[in-house]
Amino acid sequence: MNAEIRYSIIIPVYNEEAVINQTYRRLKQVMDSTRETYELIFVNDGSSDHTTAMIKGLRGQDDAVKLMTFSRNFGHQVAITAGMDYASGAAVVVIDADLQDPPEVILDMIAKWKEGFDVVYAKRTKRKGETFFKKQTARLFYRILSASTDLDIPTDTGDFRLLDRRVCEELKRLPEKNRYVRGLVSWVGFRQTAVEYERDERVAGETKYPLKKMIKLSLDGLTSFSYKPLKLANYAGVVLITFGFTYLLALLLLKLFSPAVIAGWNLVMAMQLLLTGFVLTMMGVIGEYIGRIYDEARDRPLYIVSECQGMMKKERNVKRVV
Ligand code: UDP
Ligand code: MG
Repeated sequence: MNAEIRYSIIIPVYNEEAVINQTYRRLKQVMDSTRETYELIFVNDGSSDHTTAMIKGLRGQDDAVKLMTFSRNFGHQVAITAGMDYASGAAVVVIDADLQDPPEVILDMIAKWKEGFDVVYAKRTKRKGETFFKKQTARLFYRILSASTDLDIPTDTGDFRLLDRRVCEELKRLPEKNRYVRGLVSWVGFRQTAVEYERDERVAGETKYPLKKMIKLSLDGLTSFSYKPLKLANYAGVVLITFGFTYLLALLLLKLFSPAVIAGWNLVMAMQLLLTGFVLTMMGVIGEYIGRIYDEARDRPLYIVSECQGMMKKERNVKRVV
């Protein structure tokens, strides 16, 4: 049956017992309406609730449901990557499990794909039911990212998208560990287009993206596609040196031409704090990059699959040239 599969839907799930059944029903309805073959690949990212049992239940009634379980929580971007490694469809769709991405939009994506596009990403025109903080920080992040990289990464798009088989194959060749998948998709190229949609509220359950994971994702995005943060030290260094020289010159002139006594230690203290703070911040920026280089050097596998149902367990097909 595998060779015949037309669409692979990848659904990363992490403790989504509250939504699984509903998501499955909506996806099934949409995919059945295509009258073509499909598989629903649930990538269970180390859930500790009833998610696993529920997916197994669905699998009992429906062969199209496939399940891959990680040995622990490896994170959303890794789950998507694993889904791509295992998917066998001619087109691959990545969608969130919480129905914030309406499954009906997949039909629009398929239509574009049939027109000949290789990547169809979903651009959100509205985000419902998300906090002001989340919307604003997301907005800011997308703007900073696009300002700091030459790569054209579309703003206001998540990972909800359709990829042609050949794009998926190219993505599988990218070995990096700290993955910002939507950026990688842009990097790969091919014919890309957008469909617009309104992002719904999560139907049930809580967000699985606390602030800590959001920050990690943004830093992965920035460091994967831009060296600008590192260059900041250069620019700031030049500004500070210029400032320092001017300041020294001013002091010298003051000393030569004015009788005033300069009691400058307050200023020295302030400058000291400022400069040390700046140096430490820059070391932190460098640290972010070095940590990622370290991840690459260790070259651990991206994820560990503890259980696989409906698909053969396999290694990532990445060949690293050292
Ligand atoms: N998710 C995951 N692993 C994680 C966090 C999230 O697989 O460590 C999945 C989650 O189950 C959902 C998708 O990623 O299908 C998006 O997460 P969520 O809806 O919680 O994020 P938000 O929409 O709030 O940004
Ligand atoms: Mg969500």
